[in-house]
Amino acid sequence: MRHTRVSDLLSSTTTLPEINAKGWVRTFRNNQFIALNDGSTLNNIQCVVDFENTPDETLKRITTGAAVSVTGSLVESKGAGQKYEIQVAKLEILGDSDAEKFPMQPKKHSLEFLRENAHLRVRTNAFGAIMRVRSVLSFAVHSYFQQKGFVYVNTPIITGADAEGAGEMFQVTSLPLDNLPKNEEGNIDYKKDFFGKHTNLTVSGQLEGETFAMALGQIYTFGPTFRAENSNTSRHLAEFWMIEPEVAFNDLNDNMDLAEDFIQYVIKYTMEKCSDDLKFLEGRLLEEEKSKPQAERSEMGLLEKLNFVLENNFKRVSYTEAIDILRDCTPNKKKKFQYIINEWGADLQSEHERYLVEKHFKCPVILFDYPANIKAFYMRLNEDGKTVRAMDILFPGIGEIVGGSQREERFDVLVEKMKALGIDEEVLWWYLDTRRFGSAVHSGFGLGFERLVLFVTGMTNIRDVIPFPRTPMNAEF
Ligand code: ATP
Ligand code: MN
Repeated sequence: MRHTRVSDLLSSTTTLPEINAKGWVRTFRNNQFIALNDGSTLNNIQCVVDFENTPDETLKRITTGAAVSVTGSLVESKGAGQKYEIQVAKLEILGDSDAEKFPMQPKKHSLEFLRENAHLRVRTNAFGAIMRVRSVLSFAVHSYFQQKGFVYVNTPIITGADAEGAGEMFQVTSLPLDNLPKNEEGNIDYKKDFFGKHTNLTVSGQLEGETFAMALGQIYTFGPTFRAENSNTSRHLAEFWMIEPEVAFNDLNDNMDLAEDFIQYVIKYTMEKCSDDLKFLEGRLLEEEKSKPQAERSEMGLLEKLNFVLENNFKRVSYTEAIDILRDCTPNKKKKFQYIINEWGADLQSEHERYLVEKHFKCPVILFDYPANIKAFYMRLNEDGKTVRAMDILFPGIGEIVGGSQREERFDVLVEKMKALGIDEEVLWWYLDTRRFGSAVHSGFGLGFERLVLFVTGMTNIRDVIPFPRTPMNAEF
């Protein structure tokens, strides 16, 4: 008999005479009640074992973590807490789990301990919930863009364009590191490398994405990106997934509209599909916040916070307005910020972004029109000659979740800018072709998928929303 998923059994509308379920034992109470979980839902199904007719040796093997198969009937539960339970007629131990050694005990573990056991943490309620939410969110991403007719593009993971400037890059080579070939000048001879040139792991698919937008109109990427971030923060990974839509003929306002509509759609979709998991995560967050001083606790519960994002427009504020607010705010005057904001042109640190979002506006904020010299070369220069059509979306508890811009479509202006920054035109010849042949206004943005998962799950460390985090000094699993 084929086994039925626990989620299907729990949502059954009738009792069933004969079913089989397979899963892992979460707990075994009174030698009689198994809480069985198969990952299809947060909820366990209660399996009632006929302990009088089950050999002692078998009962002893029903331990936390063991894989079991139960055959029996789905009956109305006599106990409180569940509508249906399984009256077990036949129980088979598929895989034993030594109760003394199994690290995932039925008790609260620290997130740090769970990170060290990332291969097993997914067997806990919290990580099961997070990973299901992550899966649904990624489907929502595709659903949004596909419905709107965007073309999904797979940009290269190994890139020869190291001028993107989005972050420190990991090098890709097949050269023997203990015996590197040298050229006449004594430098490493990358002509002898696998690709005949120096290559890196991509930090962003944007430049390649732009070439596709200039043919297919509306495209998006959704793939892994790599940054050798030397900072060990709760918001940075060395390997993360980025979503990068790029749209021909969109200006910066269209770009903001798209980002806002997109984020609201994926959150709404996930709230509809993952209500059990999100309710659980809301409870987890509440519990976690109890250990914090009152002033640091969030004013809203998780679901309330998600609803707030759905129901309210993101506040659009220019960089110049933001600087005025920051210069005059109390933490700046009292020198509470690590970086004091004195003048226009300052790069905003996460403390400033969080002040704007969490204390001043108390809602998601889109900052736009940044000073040209703190932003990337490809951003469209404004008529004022000193700001660019960049936008960052800032979220409460997260800081920057989206970075985007209208792109510089004018060949001459772009080349001028590249020259000023010492970016080699030869290397980006193909990128410049988009401006040589049929150039047009276009815009796009990059959204860090894990930062979105952080926001939706209410988790606070980015290492807890990706299956196997890659961070400085850590590439286990
Ligand atoms: P930050 O200032 O937070 O480092 P950034 O300015 O380097 O971000 P972008 O280059 O604009 O970010 O990348 C686009 C998006 O990718 C960011 O808005 C963020 O959501 C995400 N992102 C960037 N770096 C990382 C990282 N190391 N780990 C996870 N997500 C990241
Ligand atoms: Mn960064």
